[in-house]
Amino acid sequence: MYWTEFFIPTNKEIPADAKIPSHQLMIRSGMIKQESSGIYSWLPLGFKVLKKIEKIVREEQEKAGAIEMLMPTLQAVELWKESGRYDGYGKEMLKIIDRHNRFLIYGPTNEEQVTEIFRAFVKSYKNLPLNLFHIQWKFRDEIRPRFGVMRGREFLMKDAYSFDLNEEESKKSYYKMFISYIKIFKRLKINTIPVVADSGEIGGSLSHEFSIITNTGEGQVYCDKRLFDLELDNDDLNNLSDLERAVGNYTQFYSATEDKHNEKIFKEKVPEEFRLKGKAIEVGHIFSFGEKYSSPMKAYITNKEGKNVSVYMGSYGIGVSRLVAAIIEYSHDKKGIIWPNSVTPFHVGIINVQADNKECLKVIQEIKSEFEENNLEVLVDDRDESVGKKYADMDLIGLPYILTIGPRDIKEKKVDVKFRHTDTKENLSIEGAINRITSLAKEKTRS
Ligand code: ATP
Ligand code: MG
Repeated sequence: MYWTEFFIPTNKEIPADAKIPSHQLMIRSGMIKQESSGIYSWLPLGFKVLKKIEKIVREEQEKAGAIEMLMPTLQAVELWKESGRYDGYGKEMLKIIDRHNRFLIYGPTNEEQVTEIFRAFVKSYKNLPLNLFHIQWKFRDEIRPRFGVMRGREFLMKDAYSFDLNEEESKKSYYKMFISYIKIFKRLKINTIPVVADSGEIGGSLSHEFSIITNTGEGQVYCDKRLFDLELDNDDLNNLSDLERAVGNYTQFYSATEDKHNEKIFKEKVPEEFRLKGKAIEVGHIFSFGEKYSSPMKAYITNKEGKNVSVYMGSYGIGVSRLVAAIIEYSHDKKGIIWPNSVTPFHVGIINVQADNKECLKVIQEIKSEFEENNLEVLVDDRDESVGKKYADMDLIGLPYILTIGPRDIKEKKVDVKFRHTDTKENLSIEGAINRITSLAKEKTRS
């Protein structure tokens, strides 16, 4: 891609309400544009990143056996009355009146909708387990939308819903999602902390929130850093005891939110050098809630004995659009964003020092095609701008590898390469630069 043929409206002005780095950087790099409070357009550069995160989430959920579908954004009020959540959900629910004076809800979440789909088609334990997910826009009329897409009103969520015959089977589905989440966040290069979450009024249910610690999070979290170094064996785990063991590897480490934190136990269990506390942002939430919706909504199945029972359910959310901001909070410096290879909008940036030099253009074209043959995406800054401006913008938009090419470099067949992750520079032969970057980018993109 050539900068002049793309659309990256970088911005000097930062709105006064953009208080956190990710919000400022997303606006400055032309990734998003605010349309009204908590509602954003995703401009091409931001949209590219959003799609890449979505793809990783989809791949890992499918590997864990979940099946993708798409439910509508608008839902019938009646479903929410059936589940009993209509009155309780509160002012975050956006209601819309159609021309027949009927109320619709812009879905803040989809438990009711998916239970309705399930009960319409599934009647027997023989069709279980089932896990359905979609990646769809949600709307919550947050009282204080802030921090850009971190807490928007309209936001993109991946939500999966599991259906099982009984509690034990349901646990299996839950643990599979737990492991799938760990894999997703590993590929996104963020250290997440699984923290036991309040599971509401239902006894015996399981719930974890996956949070990252940043300076700008909301609630306080305490954890043991050794959690981040754990490696997952890549086997597909299928029986309950193997799954339990794999999850147990993570949950054995101390982690707690402020309200459940016990300083004495923290100090006993966690050596000082591994203690971590900080403000957290929730990027995912998994929840096993049994018959909470299936019972009032009469989502019954016949079990092995031929008896009608309510299906056991769980729900599993990931804030896909929030993750874009969360990754930036995690990975930026004074100059701009530093994208992990797995979600970077382009892998390689090439700065053309002399935009009108035909020789330079030709060599850049060749380098660009070579990268592209290796499945790396390239952005060439071919604008008629100062080199200083081009450097600054490349740093701002955060591409991992930046090549600078001018007439002298071509004569010497050499090129300056900047490695954004380590903030180092090297002067390499053109061939050497291509080989090095290709192998680095591939290594770091792998799951
Ligand atoms: P929070 O505690 O941050 O308000 P929540 O507990 O209400 O989140 P869930 O209902 O668990 O959120 O939704 C699943 C995921 O959707 C969350 O883990 C989060 O990543 C994302 N999410 C929730 N609310 C928003 C929002 N207003 N803007 C962006 N993402 C959100
Ligand atoms: Mg939550």
